Amino acid sequence: MSRELFAIFGNPVSHSKSPLMHNLAFKGLGYSGCYGRYRLEDGARLRETFFALGLKGINITVPHKEHAYNACDVLDDFAKKVGAVNTIVKRDGRLYGYNTDAPGFLKAISEFDNVKTVLFLGAGGTAQSTAVILKEAGYQVTILNRSTPRLEKFAKEGFETATFDNFTPKAYDLVVNMTSAGLEDESLPAPKTLIEPLIGQTKACVDVIYGKETPFLKLAKTLGKPTKDGSDMLLYQGIIAFEHFTSYQYDFEEAKYYMQKAFEL
Ligand code: NDP
Repeated sequence: MSRELFAIFGNPVSHSKSPLMHNLAFKGLGYSGCYGRYRLEDGARLRETFFALGLKGINITVPHKEHAYNACDVLDDFAKKVGAVNTIVKRDGRLYGYNTDAPGFLKAISEFDNVKTVLFLGAGGTAQSTAVILKEAGYQVTILNRSTPRLEKFAKEGFETATFDNFTPKAYDLVVNMTSAGLEDESLPAPKTLIEPLIGQTKACVDVIYGKETPFLKLAKTLGKPTKDGSDMLLYQGIIAFEHFTSYQYDFEEAKYYMQKAFEL
């Protein structure tokens, strides 16, 4: 069998761990695949670029997840519902689209016991898909964002929403940083006076950012709370994508064994 080609599309894309994760799993499991990276400037050219490069599958990162959604011939039910695709697989010349970020996040937080109420700080694309999957899984999700426009969609879908100005603080089982605050700067996702009491009352704090300790997680640790960064979400979304790429030939734990080595390098 000739080697199947995969890639991550994004802009920027040089920082991505996905090539390492997938190549370790291909090699470890003896699958004839090779995974690279492609900086795509114009998201509208995603489909033609996919075919021009002769790819079998891709992952898609910022800022092209909506373009990826529009590029597909067939969407799975969840991707259709949330309007964002981060995994595409070609089968019989047609592009099938999936969202594996949200199930990856769901699995990552499932290690915390007795969690029912979750506060999201942030209302972007990642918050959107993960809020929907958490709601379907029985969690109560509240969305707190610094500005109003992105909250409208959440409110229409029945989520409790607030901005910093009209938020009434209460105790949440889990507080999650869903913003990019702390990714390339040292900012908190909300004013410290607002965040500190929320962290004080919660059971644990999660950040979707990985590869660094954000000011949010630093503060949570200072206040003695269990924390988790975005590494497990990244790992799990990758394994679920790998399952799509390889047509479920391997079980989750097998792929995890090899993929998680990417985080040790
Ligand atoms: P979006 O650009 O769609 O949304 C960004 C959100 O963050 C908005 O709600 C925005 O508020 C808010 N925000 C940005 N900067 C600040 C700030 N300084 N203070 C307060 N709020 C801020 O981003 P995504 O949803 O695509 O990504 C969010 C994060 O998730 C990123 O850090 C990304 O790296 C991470 N991520 C991690 C993954 C993983 O596997 N671990 C997978 C995917 C994403 P406003 O609406 O007011 O602009």
